[in-house]
Amino acid sequence: MPESRLLELALPVPLRRNFDYLPPVDFPAEQLDSLQAGILIRVPFGHQELIGVLMAVKSVSFYQPEKLRPAITVVDQQPAFCTELLELCSWAADYYQSPLGEVLQAALPVLLRQGEPARMRGEPAFMLTTEGKGLPEGALKRSPKQAALIAELQKFPYLLRQDLEQLEIPRSIAITLIDKGLVKTEEIQPTRTEQPQALLNEQPLTLSDEQAFALVQIAPEGFKTYLLDGATGSGKTEIYLQAIEHCLQKGKQALVLVPEIGLTPQTIQRFQRRFAVPIAALHSGLNDRERLDAWLQARAGIARIVIGTRSALFTPFESLGIIIIDEEHDGSFKQQDGFRYSARDLAAVRAQRLNIPLILGSATPSLETLHNAVQGRYLHLQLKARAGSAKPPEVQLLDIRGEILHDGFAQASIDAIGETLERGNQVLVFLNRRGYAPTLECHDCGWLANCNFCDARMTVHQTPRHLHCHHCDHQRALPRRCPQCNSSHLQPIGQGTERSELALQELFPEQKIIRVDRDSTRNKNAMQKLLEDVHKGEPCILIGTQMLAKGHHFADVTLVVILDADAGLFSTDFRGPERMGQLLMQVAGRAGRAEKPGRVVLQSHHTDHPLVQTLVTRGYHALAELILPERQVTGLPPYRQLVLIRAESKFPQKATDFLAFARQQAELLLPANPGLSYLGPLPAFMEKRGDRFRYQLQINSAQRKPLQQLLAELAMKLEGSPLAKAVRWSIDVDPQEMG
Ligand code: ADP
Ligand code: ZN
Ligand code: ZN
Repeated sequence: MPESRLLELALPVPLRRNFDYLPPVDFPAEQLDSLQAGILIRVPFGHQELIGVLMAVKSVSFYQPEKLRPAITVVDQQPAFCTELLELCSWAADYYQSPLGEVLQAALPVLLRQGEPARMRGEPAFMLTTEGKGLPEGALKRSPKQAALIAELQKFPYLLRQDLEQLEIPRSIAITLIDKGLVKTEEIQPTRTEQPQALLNEQPLTLSDEQAFALVQIAPEGFKTYLLDGATGSGKTEIYLQAIEHCLQKGKQALVLVPEIGLTPQTIQRFQRRFAVPIAALHSGLNDRERLDAWLQARAGIARIVIGTRSALFTPFESLGIIIIDEEHDGSFKQQDGFRYSARDLAAVRAQRLNIPLILGSATPSLETLHNAVQGRYLHLQLKARAGSAKPPEVQLLDIRGEILHDGFAQASIDAIGETLERGNQVLVFLNRRGYAPTLECHDCGWLANCNFCDARMTVHQTPRHLHCHHCDHQRALPRRCPQCNSSHLQPIGQGTERSELALQELFPEQKIIRVDRDSTRNKNAMQKLLEDVHKGEPCILIGTQMLAKGHHFADVTLVVILDADAGLFSTDFRGPERMGQLLMQVAGRAGRAEKPGRVVLQSHHTDHPLVQTLVTRGYHALAELILPERQVTGLPPYRQLVLIRAESKFPQKATDFLAFARQQAELLLPANPGLSYLGPLPAFMEKRGDRFRYQLQINSAQRKPLQQLLAELAMKLEGSPLAKAVRWSIDVDPQEMG
């Protein structure tokens, strides 16, 4: 009698173990052993159905056979996960202490998670009907366009929509011919075309000596991580493009990751202008179907370049040859909930397993990455000059202590804005706070508009008028009278982008003012429309949050005014100063990108603060050199590794009890020692958020290995604890936000 077979599956549930099932009842037994790991299988789970990933076919279960239920169906016999991705996900599940099923789920396109077949959508192809083929010559003399299309279709078996576009034949002509019964459409599956004759649409730029020196050091084969460290506009993207070209020449594919708000139409167009090969851009405008298509096209080798944000790291490839991460310091590469992975760090793991190069590019590398470069783990490539003819901007620190400010603007800033506009140039005003004002205060009794659900103030918004908590999204009406003393002297305190926009309108009534923040760009394509206005190049003032700081090229902006350079200086998060430096340099980098020289004005109350001074007079790298030794002395990353165990509950006691248990268990497994310390349970920076009380336990370790081992055992203990049922808890390995 043949041995019975069982299926071991990873399921998308928050449990750190796999699940055994009997094969689907109608599945031929002799085919079971040929099922490959990585295929998707639909199974019953409690009262619901889940899509699981097959990890193994085996004959022995830890569970009693009569307890096992049969799977429902094999969704697809072709694995959704190739061995390479399956191993990467397993590695990530171990490292980030996430349930494997949840990791695999996060790596799949939504439609596959829902059990849709992994089939590419066909493309309509135009071809001749029998009648069309038999059409006598000269039959369509009176409409030359129709005749032209028929003539083309006689040459080729079929034409696709983009072929019509290239031939400049409007689709309406094809439709007319369909109506006449001469042409028909059929869906055809895209296939991998042979390598096109030309990879490029346009010639690459001639590299500067510095760029050429950097590019030759990037070996097209073998694993190595390169830090491409160059100011905004120094020509990093040109190096990416040429490194990708080398990779395409070898018949390999390229993966480019950009920050969440960096994947602008401008970025995509730049790649499309350069390369003649199919490019899949995984931007936020795609629907689930389009995402799946892009995923399938990369897997089939049709798409030769994939550009996307964080989760694009899990795209399958036929043969990946290079990974590039632009703005590697950007916080959006770290997922902040659920499966809390860093796409940048996992990219290094993927590149190493594939034995291919990884390029990390930034004008302001994270301290982790700089440290790795200093230690020799990454090859540090530097671009010091700006590419082309652009010059670095001149930076002016404006001391605003005791100054009379006009809605946040110092007189010197207003003068600079006026002069810039008069010369026909554009101005960018940066303020990283949306809304009208950070809070509302009663002038008579000092009442403040606090959020009922968070330890935070509510932001005043003018359009539409309301109070809004930016932490839990709670909204309420703007009160006319003080709820505490009934006074009508309620005043908004501080500046937000809405308020600055109004102030600028008053100061410069004739000028066009364009505000870019989350509120003004909520509607689809709103951002693009706003930016189109800017790219017309006429004088205007752009005012906005960090949405303006990344990924955009503003050729006509010659002045950047930073209203509040001090935000972040006194942050409770140890990464505050690093982030401040990165953000200010990114914003400053918007000025003077093309032929026009730029100028940056930084308003500050702390012009003599050593961090501000260093940043302005000596630049980001000098700031990094100042911060790194502090991190070493205080035992923080990149010198030691951090892990946060977070817990939150409506009842503070439940969260602290859980974390106290976590600490006790951890200390039993691995007592504190000079290389390992525990801190907490402590309240998070914002103790109450969204009506839940938040606490954390910090683990700080000099070595990764023992910490990893501890966490794996601890995670199992915590998962099984009854205390865990009363809280929301998570483990964050290498946390980016300490709050
Ligand atoms: P970064 O990615 O570092 O911001 P880019 O590659 O976008 O820099 O280059 C900035 C500008 O300089 C772009 O307009 C680009 O076309 C131009 N540029 C880059 N390299 C060269 C070069 N070697 N010669 C001329 N122009 C260049
Ligand atoms: Zn009052
Ligand atoms: Zn709130």
